[in-house]
Amino acid sequence: MNAMSDWSLVIHGGAGSIERHRLTEEQDSGARAGLTLALGVGSAILRDGGDALDAVEAAVRVLEEDTHFNAGRGAAFSSDGSIELDAAIMDGRTRAAGSVAGITATRSPVGLARRVMEASPHVLLSGDGAERFAREQGLATAEPGWFETTERRRQLDEMLARNVDAFDVDMKYGTVGAVARDRAGHLAAATSTGGVTGKRWGRIGDSPLIGAGTHADDRSSAVSCTGSGEFFIRIGVGHEIAARIRMLGEGPQIAADAVMAEVRALGGTGGVIVTGPHGEAIWSFTTPGMYRARATAAGVREVAVYGDE
Ligand code: ASP
Repeated sequence: MNAMSDWSLVIHGGAGSIERHRLTEEQDSGARAGLTLALGVGSAILRDGGDALDAVEAAVRVLEEDTHFNAGRGAAFSSDGSIELDAAIMDGRTRAAGSVAGITATRSPVGLARRVMEASPHVLLSGDGAERFAREQGLATAEPGWFETTERRRQLDEMLARNVDAFDVDMKYGTVGAVARDRAGHLAAATSTGGVTGKRWGRIGDSPLIGAGTHADDRSSAVSCTGSGEFFIRIGVGHEIAARIRMLGEGPQIAADAVMAEVRALGGTGGVIVTGPHGEAIWSFTTPGMYRARATAAGVREVAVYGDE
């Protein structure tokens, strides 16, 4: 098969203290089922010759609707009991990008990010303005209650009761993301999140920041991140991986491992998923586990949760 006809897809549902003894059977099997569904939806698009951009959006939309993950429905609560969602999407063909931060009423933040990319002259919209744009575009809305789950409320209550900060607790990041290479050789990335439990003051993480939590460039890589966002922002993880591949000639795995080592060295934790220009489909993480899955035209089909899988 012509190498340029290969497609590949990698998705994640967050990284963190994801170990067998910490997850209930339902959390384990529910997350795997969600990943399997999202992988199937995204790979069907790529197999049929569809765009990487459509595949990553579709896969992330599935995970946004799944309460096992910290994005859309089932997102983490901010300290004031609200839910503020961030998302981004990027097209490696043109490096067009769209992202949103602090979303409270649009059902699919990644869908809104795509609309920002395609129907506005801007890259990043936030808060009320982003919601106004969503209404103007006729996108589906959701009541705040629709995003809420009792498990995420419990996590916030526990954090407030212990009087600790978002990063002091045993973190299980649950951000979702997808990266793909389509049969035409184009790359795309998308990420969606509720951020971190107990966040304050309008905090925005790495996920909606192009070049940090989300990045795609046909010349090098598509990257979606999960983890302690502040570190990913400071390093510019998505762009840094791309730059190493493009300018140092490293392969995606070596570049991703090197940049995750930098995250760790600064004190951050988390993981990345990457697709490369030749269909490479890889991940790298510093945490005990990461919800992840990948599929390629070559027949790879893998769903994994723990580090030793
Ligand atoms: N990276 C996200 C943030 O800092 C959190 C996550 O990955 O779950 O907002």
